[in-house]
Amino acid sequence: MKRKYMQTHRVHQLLAGLAAFVLLALPISALAVPTHIVPPKNGYGVQDDIQAGQQAAAEAERQLPILNDPTVTEYVNSVGFRLVDAIPPEYQHREFRYSFKVVNQREINAFALPGGPMYVNRGMIEAAHNEGEMAGVMAHELSHVALRHGTAQATKAQKYSILGGIGAIAGAVIGGVPGAVIGQGSQLGVGVYFLKFSREYETQADVLGAQIMARAGYDPNDLANMFKTIEQRGGAGGPQFLSDHPAPANRYARINQEAQLIGVVRNPIKNTPEFQRIQARLRGSGRAYTQQEIEQGAGRNQYPNYPSQRNTNVPYPSTRFRQIRTDWYTMSIPDNWRDYGAQTSATFAPEAAVDQNGISHGVIIGVDNVQSRNLQGASDEYISSLLQGNPYLRQQSGYQRTSISGRTAYATTLTGQSPLTGRLEQVTVVTTMLNDGRLFYFDAVAPQDESRYYQSAFSNILRSIQFYRL
Ligand SMILES: [Zn+2]
Repeated sequence: MKRKYMQTHRVHQLLAGLAAFVLLALPISALAVPTHIVPPKNGYGVQDDIQAGQQAAAEAERQLPILNDPTVTEYVNSVGFRLVDAIPPEYQHREFRYSFKVVNQREINAFALPGGPMYVNRGMIEAAHNEGEMAGVMAHELSHVALRHGTAQATKAQKYSILGGIGAIAGAVIGGVPGAVIGQGSQLGVGVYFLKFSREYETQADVLGAQIMARAGYDPNDLANMFKTIEQRGGAGGPQFLSDHPAPANRYARINQEAQLIGVVRNPIKNTPEFQRIQARLRGSGRAYTQQEIEQGAGRNQYPNYPSQRNTNVPYPSTRFRQIRTDWYTMSIPDNWRDYGAQTSATFAPEAAVDQNGISHGVIIGVDNVQSRNLQGASDEYISSLLQGNPYLRQQSGYQRTSISGRTAYATTLTGQSPLTGRLEQVTVVTTMLNDGRLFYFDAVAPQDESRYYQSAFSNILRSIQFYRL
């Protein structure tokens, strides 16, 4: 769980205005009008896209060999955010969290998940003739995300009651979600229904993709060119890609037609020195894994921030406790936990469970300035900010009455698949009002399958809390 909700400021957002200005300066024919796309009916909220996507991303990163090469990742991100900024305003969802990662896989493929996470196979970058072709596939994927095709598909499916929850939404794609990710019992398991979008959605993604390409300064025809490149490749990855994502001839025709409607983009970005450098770097950096090898588990856990291996080594909480004493409370914690203190918030956890992204095991306490003067309203406020910072979590129950330091407190449980560990996480949140009108919170975090080893430690800590000023 993240320790504190942080608003991420992205430079590309600041640059969006500038990009729009540059676009106005592009001599696009005034006679032509790009096709207006109506996103399909969707019964889900934008937050559902984000949450489903984050969960699916955690699962994907647990199973796929994510390429750990900052030079390549930075480059793919720069192209990705250039395209994000070029999404027409009416399809922009500022809440979405776009990310672009490279999978160290040989087959030509790319997929995007609802709400923003995109995965581009190394084989796709190596096969593209230029940056425009690579951007074409990415623009197509991005269009599925922007038009919210994953949740739209689930809306349709629910009408025929094929499945129940939004956890099943996998925003599929060019080439589909790789078989390795469609594990049994995984959130993506049911996503097998979504491996193929309808022809209608694919056409929408092609048309919007072409528009995004032009707005970003690329040649929209390069989207069609990339499909041809893939077809020509035939051998490794080609047939697999085409079986997942049929590319009839009229698909090229439709993209070319849209390019006509958009008008001429003068001096479009085709090949760039950066693309050539990255391609050379990839071609010279050893063999990529094949799909078959990945299905057998090859190359997992390369992602540097991925602490799952370390997390299996987190020692259980000691049954011996030591007392923490500050100027406003005392509390006892297991003596093999450390104190990561701060002014209004503190973390208590075993060392192996903490990194800069958050904690996988332990307790976070703190005080929050809340608007509401009653415990129910204040707790709701706090929980909703917690869910914003940790969108993979869901509240499992209403509040149960308990107490902290003799005061009435509310307890509730949140669960979800942690993007830190890829494991199902359980967070117990206990809240109480302080005399100064602020809310005190106590968040107990552990992977669900280990939670029975933490129950008694958590309740001992909670019972030991004594406030003496507030
Ligand atoms: Zn598609």
